[in-house]
Amino acid sequence: MRCPLEKRYDIAIIGTGPAGISAAINARIRNKSIIIFGSKSLTDKLTKAPRIDNYLGFYNVSGSKLKENFQKHIDSMGIQICEEKVKAVYALGDYFSILANDNMYEASTVILSTGIEFTKSLKGELEYLGRGVGYCATCDAPLYKGKKVIIVGYNEEAEEEANFVSEIAQQLYYLPMKGLRGKLRGNIEVIEDIPLEIMGGDKVKSLKLKNREVEADGIFILKDSMPPSQLVPGLEIVEGHILVSKAMATNIEGCFAAGDCTGRPYQYMKAAGEGQVAALSAVSYLDKK
Ligand code: FAD
Repeated sequence: MRCPLEKRYDIAIIGTGPAGISAAINARIRNKSIIIFGSKSLTDKLTKAPRIDNYLGFYNVSGSKLKENFQKHIDSMGIQICEEKVKAVYALGDYFSILANDNMYEASTVILSTGIEFTKSLKGELEYLGRGVGYCATCDAPLYKGKKVIIVGYNEEAEEEANFVSEIAQQLYYLPMKGLRGKLRGNIEVIEDIPLEIMGGDKVKSLKLKNREVEADGIFILKDSMPPSQLVPGLEIVEGHILVSKAMATNIEGCFAAGDCTGRPYQYMKAAGEGQVAALSAVSYLDKK
């Protein structure tokens, strides 16, 4: 079931960490219509923190307690999370078209608060990006109709994508990087091994694992967040981070960014503060329009 469809939201926020939550709260206070995409459990980076000493007003708080407070805050303001993964954002001049799961949404502005992915890329991953390597299996699955595909999956959503691709591909191999969580279709071959290198010529030919090599036409690497440059075509990136102005504006008009995805320091309060600035900048952009 898709999330509520407004004709066009004022602001679409991508990510439910401190940056996204703060952006949502501030945009709502300014009476804008918002949609916030991400996980209903907010962010692993809160739940995994055993003790936090530097969040203003909450000395020695656990990450799960702080998460509980964030949840109460958004609940009190009637903010609901759209639990869908954004796969692509297209800047179409006057507005943005957002592909989340298999649904399309529209918004006049976008705030990217997708955090940062710490797992290192595989050898050959960037070299073969767009030449057999991809980050959105459901988007690109039709390219691999009747072909061999490998999915390197880091989360439960990757398993859902694997089930979908297995209906189209001739053969699907699935590498569970963090264990299997859901239920995979019977025609998927699960390989418990460690990926080392993507090999090929003009295009991808195989994935070298620690114990064997598997031939494939396409390889999808599915993590919690995809590189922002892949999410939003044309987005300017500097040393792996989204380039932003002091107003948290990116190089794309109407597109703002906040939190870890804009650079160091990777901290809750920096993320929340940037989320606020991004929301207020989006509001003033909308008001000027
Ligand atoms: P994140 O918290 O990473 O949130 C981003 C969210 O966006 C995630 O839920 C992700 O799944 C979601 N997302 C990404 N892409 C998409 C997409 N395409 N569609 C939908 N959703 C998407 N900082 C401190 O200041 N003090 C501490 O004590 C501290 N301790 C830490 C302990 C641990 C164990 C860890 C891992 C981090 C700690 N940090 C600490 C750092 C802090 O967690 C981060 O700086 C902060 O969470 C960044 O917030 P964010 O909103 O930018 O990104």
